[in-house]
Amino acid sequence: MKKTIFLLFALLFTSSLAAQSTNNELTDEEKYLDAMHRYITSGKLLGYVRQLSDSSLQGRLAGSPGMEKAVGIIKGYFEEWNLIPGGANGSYLQEYPHPCVEIKAGSAMSVLFPTPAGKKGVAWVTKEYPWADGWFAGNNSGNGEVTADIVYAGFGVSAPELDYDDYKGINVKGKIVLIEGETPNLSGHPDTIAMWYRHTLHQSKLANAALHGAIGMLYKWVPGPNALYNPGFVYCHITEPVMEDIFLGTGRTYKETVKGIYETKRPASFDTGKKAYIKMISTYNPDATGKNILGIIKGSDPNLTDEYIMISAHLDHLGMIPWHIEGANDNNASSAALLGVAEALSKAVVKPKRSIVFMSVDGEEAGLTGSTFYTQHPVLPKEKMIAILNLEQMGAGEMLGAGYGYTVPGLATFLEKANRSYVHRRLIMYEDTYRTRPRTDGAVFKKAGYPCADLRAVGGGYYHHPKDNVESINPEILQSATEWLYWATIFIANEESPDLFLRKE
Ligand SMILES: [Zn+2]
Repeated sequence: MKKTIFLLFALLFTSSLAAQSTNNELTDEEKYLDAMHRYITSGKLLGYVRQLSDSSLQGRLAGSPGMEKAVGIIKGYFEEWNLIPGGANGSYLQEYPHPCVEIKAGSAMSVLFPTPAGKKGVAWVTKEYPWADGWFAGNNSGNGEVTADIVYAGFGVSAPELDYDDYKGINVKGKIVLIEGETPNLSGHPDTIAMWYRHTLHQSKLANAALHGAIGMLYKWVPGPNALYNPGFVYCHITEPVMEDIFLGTGRTYKETVKGIYETKRPASFDTGKKAYIKMISTYNPDATGKNILGIIKGSDPNLTDEYIMISAHLDHLGMIPWHIEGANDNNASSAALLGVAEALSKAVVKPKRSIVFMSVDGEEAGLTGSTFYTQHPVLPKEKMIAILNLEQMGAGEMLGAGYGYTVPGLATFLEKANRSYVHRRLIMYEDTYRTRPRTDGAVFKKAGYPCADLRAVGGGYYHHPKDNVESINPEILQSATEWLYWATIFIANEESPDLFLRKE
C-alpha cells in the first residue's frame, strides 16, 4: 500500500514537472500570441491615433511643417524598437520633391443673391455658410480675393474627342465657375473609363477653367490637396446644400440638371445670376519635400530573409483648410495598426522567416505621390517583394474588408486564415480589378505589378470631414484589424508553398 502511494506521488510529481517544462517551452504560436497580447492593445493603438491626430500636427499635409512632426513621431518609434533603417543612405527616410501649398486662417467663402430689382436696381444679399457643412478651402488654391458672377459649367470638361464641352455657349471670362467632380460617364467599362480618364482629374478641371478665363471655382467635391497650384486662380469646395441654393430661382434644380447631363451626355451650362465671394490666403513652397519612412525587421530563415512582406499606410492628410481635420481614421488608425505590428514583431522572441518592411507613406492625399515615387525608386528588389499589405482607414465600423486578386489571388488565403484563426470578424473580400482611376497607394502598387492587397475596416467612419476624429474611432475594430494584419503578415512570412504567391498578369 505504502509503495503504491509512493509511486502515485512520484508519478504526480514527475507529471507536474513535465507539464511545467512544456510551459517553459512555448510553441512559436504561443510566442507570437504573447507578443500580440502585450503590444497590440486597443488602448495603445488609440494612443497612437490620438498622438497623430493632435492639432499641433496641423492635419499632416505632405511637405508642411506639421507633417515633419508626424514623420518625427513614426521615425522615433522605429528607432525605439530597433527597426533597421530601410530608406536612402542608411536612414529611415526616402525623400522626394513635393511642392506644398498651405492654406491660412482668414480664408472665406460666401454667396451673393440678388434681391428683386426695385427703383434702385439690384441689391445683393450675402449668405454665409458654415465651414465643413457648407464649404472647405481649396487645398491648392492660389492666394487672392475675388467677387464675381457664378456660371454653372457642369463637370468642367472640354473633350472635343468625345464631342462634349461644358464650356460651349457660355462665357466665363473673369467669372467663377461652378462645377463638380468626375465626368458624365457612368459606365464601368474599361474602354469608356479610359476615354474619360484624363477629364476626371482635378488638375484637368482647374486647368480647363483657367484656360477659359475663369478667375475662380466653386467645386462640389470632397476637399483634398490633389490639384494643380495656379497662383492666379482661387477655388474652394462646396457641399450639395450650397449648390442647391445657387440653383434657386433659375427654374432648374441641381439634381434634375445633373441627371439630364448623365442621361443625354449633353452639357447644361448656364449663368446662375448669383455671385460668389472667395478669399483664399495661401502660401506656396516649391521646395518642400515628401518623406516615406521605411523600417525593416530581418527574417529569421537564412534562405528566406532576402524576401520581403511590406506593410504600408499613408501618414499624410489634408492639412488646414483652413481649420484642422484630424484624419483619425484616414489614416492614423492605419498608422496605429502599422506601429502595433512593428512593435509586436520587433519584440516577439520568435521572428518570421521572411523580412518585414514597414513603410509610412507620404503624399497619398496629394495624388499618391509617395507610393508612386517608391515604385519608381524601389529601395528593395521588386522581385523579392512577396506581398504588400496596404492599410486604409482601419479604425471605424464593425467589419474587415480586403481588396485583392488583381495581382496575387493567393493572398486571400492568408487574410481569410488570419481572420478565421484569431479574429472572427465579418470579413468582406472583394476582387479588386482597379480599372478606374487609382485612389489608394495599393492601387499604385498593383498597377506597378506588385503583389498587393488593400486592407481596411468596413461599416463606419467619416471621410475628409472634421467628424473623422478620435471620437469616431472604434477601438475594438482597430484592435481586431491590427491582430488580423499581424497574423496575416506572420502567415505570409512563414509560408513555404510557392503556389500561394503565383502572380496573375
Ligand atoms: Zn486615406
